[in-house]
Amino acid sequence: MSPLIELRGIGRVFEDEDGVRTQALADVTLAIEAGELVCITGPSGSGKSTLLNILGCLDRPTAGEYRVDGRDVTVLDADELARLRRDEFGFVFQSFNLLESATCQQNVELPARYLGLGAGPARDRARRLLQSLGLSDRLDHRPAELSGGEQQRTAIARALMNGGRVILADEPTGALDSAQGEEVMSLLRGLSERGHTVLIVSHDAAIAASADRRIALSDGHVVADSGAAASESPPHVPTPENGRSRVLGLSALLRDALTCLGANSLRTALMVLSVALGVGSVVALLSLSEGIESRTLEAIEANLIKIHSLGSSKDTAVQLTLADADAIRSEIPNVMTTHLRMKGPLSIRWGTVAEETEVHAGTGMRPTAIDRRPWPLARGAFLTVEDSERREQVVVLGPAIAEALFGGASDPIGEHVQIDGIPFLVKGVLEQSPPPPNMDLPEELLGPILAMFGDVAYVPFHTARELLVPADVAPELTIIDGVRLVSTPFGALTIEARVADPNAVEATASAIRDLLIRTHGREGFSMEIDVERADTFDRLFGLHPVLQGGIAAVALLVAIVGVTATTLVAVGARRREIGIRMAIGARRRDIASQFLVEAAIAAFVGGAIGLLLGYWAGVGVAAVATPSGSLQVPVAFASWFVPAALCGGVATGLVAGIMPARRAARLDPVEALAAE
Ligand code: ADP
Ligand code: MG
Repeated sequence: MSPLIELRGIGRVFEDEDGVRTQALADVTLAIEAGELVCITGPSGSGKSTLLNILGCLDRPTAGEYRVDGRDVTVLDADELARLRRDEFGFVFQSFNLLESATCQQNVELPARYLGLGAGPARDRARRLLQSLGLSDRLDHRPAELSGGEQQRTAIARALMNGGRVILADEPTGALDSAQGEEVMSLLRGLSERGHTVLIVSHDAAIAASADRRIALSDGHVVADSGAAASESPPHVPTPENGRSRVLGLSALLRDALTCLGANSLRTALMVLSVALGVGSVVALLSLSEGIESRTLEAIEANLIKIHSLGSSKDTAVQLTLADADAIRSEIPNVMTTHLRMKGPLSIRWGTVAEETEVHAGTGMRPTAIDRRPWPLARGAFLTVEDSERREQVVVLGPAIAEALFGGASDPIGEHVQIDGIPFLVKGVLEQSPPPPNMDLPEELLGPILAMFGDVAYVPFHTARELLVPADVAPELTIIDGVRLVSTPFGALTIEARVADPNAVEATASAIRDLLIRTHGREGFSMEIDVERADTFDRLFGLHPVLQGGIAAVALLVAIVGVTATTLVAVGARRREIGIRMAIGARRRDIASQFLVEAAIAAFVGGAIGLLLGYWAGVGVAAVATPSGSLQVPVAFASWFVPAALCGGVATGLVAGIMPARRAARLDPVEALAAE
């Protein structure tokens, strides 16, 4: 049978950047049987640590052959070596090499994570090991709160977590006082008695004397070997079952990542901030520009199609109906909303004063529907949808008609006026505003124009339909000098359809025409679209998606650079931790996925914070950028922003994590362990 460990002609040459070669080991040939307790001695620089690192598969020899259990390990790749470390070897270092941010128990559990052991079994096993080493009251302490001896016992428990058939201890008592050192030594001797193979590097003559076998090194050569003690076959060392559960692996990975993120709170905060600012600026940009776009669309009416209940020259008029409006909205994809309007001159009287004014009624008529007019509400309130549903007999008067009827003598609010002989309560009065700055008219023209604009009254749609519309509302067509003049009586419906895509306004209009001809059998209506406005809108906003995409890409790129930089710094600062993880069996992909997952979690949180930041920034900018009294810019915060920002955050983290994660995974375990 082959020995457990067999070295043949092992050499290790280090070569530094200047090409200076150091022969740390030369022609080392050794065989070590299972269950032996070996002490490797020799002066400083004689190659003891190098030998131990090669034995533990942390380092590779530059010459010779190394077999573990008869298997040639010099041909194994980095991950196969990691698996061998995980399953066979347990390391005990002079400086303990515990993770400072983890508790005693978490440190001991860590190797099980790379084995795929479940959280429950891992916890139980770690507890049992710590208990057997007299540390049951130190489970939740961090290494800094433990004595050197306690830390080294924790490290021994960790070395045993996955079985630790071979324990490799490099000057395990070097940092301890003699009492604690003796305690650690007796633990190691006990392990050897229970079947573990224990290799100890030590200067200490007493330790060497207590070992079964002593191997002395000098200048990289074995200069003395007391030989294998006659051994009966050692007891079998039980090892925990390899779990291999992907779900368990993932949950352990997440828990570990969260612990590490918490332990490095400043770096984590920087990562979160990078992504939050990136995502936040994209969200603010999108919500503002979408809002401005939709408000502009509404303001210049580039998306408006009006359908009038008027005959064309060839057909007699049809009466448009509420059902037509519903059909247009539900059957034509580009149509977002439809509203019904009627307007026409009606008589309006208060007491003995009688006038004629343009009466308007429409569905969904909100104050915003008249926001575009140069006068806001002066007193009272505007009509609501409920006024229409409840058939309230209420009216809002324009400034000119209010002036004509009441003459400023008394407050119109609460008074009843008669429209076509039917009483309506005055609910509100619109204000006569100063003329808009771009309306550069001479005084004598301005007055009449404003009076004309102000000569209106608004009534609820359904109230008007029931009380003010005559049975027959056929429009009157008069032809004067060859010009067709149509006077619309109050009650002829106009349907206003708003489309989502103003560029398709012509196609949509012809679809509406076809639909109405199908319903009514003739083209007894006319349509009004403004293609020029759609063109204007397109000129204004056609490049928007490209601009938005460009700015979003730059913002996310900045976030990616931020997370990459922070993660790279983290990899540099955590080299020793990476080395420890590699020593206890982490494969390259375990290291890489840890950094990737940490970056993704931080970026996910950053995405969520960015979403809020962006929303508030959008609202804030909209408020600051809107001069008082002018149009309020709506912030269009679409619901798809939420999943998009969160996914975008995670994607940012993953992309940003790739390069640093690869770097971390490619670190040399011995060099990483030597890092400060
Ligand atoms: P010991 O543990 O017995 O003190 P080491 O195994 O650490 O000795 O080192 C053996 C020799 O190899 C020393 O001369 C040391 O300087 C050299 N050496 C060890 N590691 C490296 C390295 N990474 N690069 C260059 N030389 C090294
Ligand atoms: Mg050494």
